[in-house]
Amino acid sequence: MRLKDRVAIVTGGAQGIGKAIGTAFIGEGARLVIGDVNGDLAAKTAAELNQGGRKARSIRIDVAETTGGQQLVDFCLSEFGRVDILVNNAGIGANVRALECTLEQWERVIRINLTGAFLCSQAAGREMVKQGYGKIINICSLSGQRGGIGRAPYGAAKAGLELLTKVMAVELAEQGVNVNDIVPGPIATDVGRAMHDPATVEAYEFLVPQRRYGVPEEIANAAVFLASAESDYVNGHSLSVDGGFGSAGLMYPLPNSPHR
Ligand code: NAP
Repeated sequence: MRLKDRVAIVTGGAQGIGKAIGTAFIGEGARLVIGDVNGDLAAKTAAELNQGGRKARSIRIDVAETTGGQQLVDFCLSEFGRVDILVNNAGIGANVRALECTLEQWERVIRINLTGAFLCSQAAGREMVKQGYGKIINICSLSGQRGGIGRAPYGAAKAGLELLTKVMAVELAEQGVNVNDIVPGPIATDVGRAMHDPATVEAYEFLVPQRRYGVPEEIANAAVFLASAESDYVNGHSLSVDGGFGSAGLMYPLPNSPHR
């Protein structure tokens, strides 16, 4: 019970990686608020997690709305009285080349993936500073660390989020708030599927050194660590959970290479 009695918010927690994180947090004794734009699915997920006397609540929230983050934090305070952990997980994918990307597409991806996380962090961070305790975890992406075709708005948003992690980690360190991020490689979820056509899936299964997609539970394990006291001296860190993909480079042997 590494998160016993802690109160956690997971944005985009109705499904995929966010659902796995919420499930793991509840399993470690936390109370949970799921904030998701898909309100019905969020309610269904919370109901599933509530079985056995556990405490999960949900609220329909759009993190891209100016007041979305504050509404989410206010709901959490009204349900549980505090907020100890925030996971900025809500995100959308985009697969569009820079020269074809419309301003509308660009702004939507930046707004949800970066500005949404910023607004939630501001709202939750202010409560955490008052408490003198908090853990903020941003879900970033390898697409934010490398160039890659079709990743202009998504990669820029995730790169921005990774830098926001570091800035907020430094600014809030003395007030007892840790800010870290997780950098997933390809993970088998709807976003993963939407961004990867069958040929891309095959390529990832070859290029990831562990030769497979990750599963959401593997991101959740990292999130439990970053949300728990075990990581109290970890701050401003980007934790890759990617089967070694971020470490693989040009020397990675091709199938017919004599070096395999
Ligand atoms: P997912 O299965 O699509 O789940 C994301 C959830 O967030 C959905 O329920 C979605 O609702 C919700 N959401 C979208 N926009 C929102 C908004 N404006 N406000 C609140 N909730 C919103 O995605 P996932 O694959 O679990 O991805 C979770 C996070 O991991 C994302 O930040 C993603 O960028 C990151 N990530 C994923 C991968 C991967 O391979 N899967 C790799 C690296 C990083 P709707 O379905 O209704 O839109």
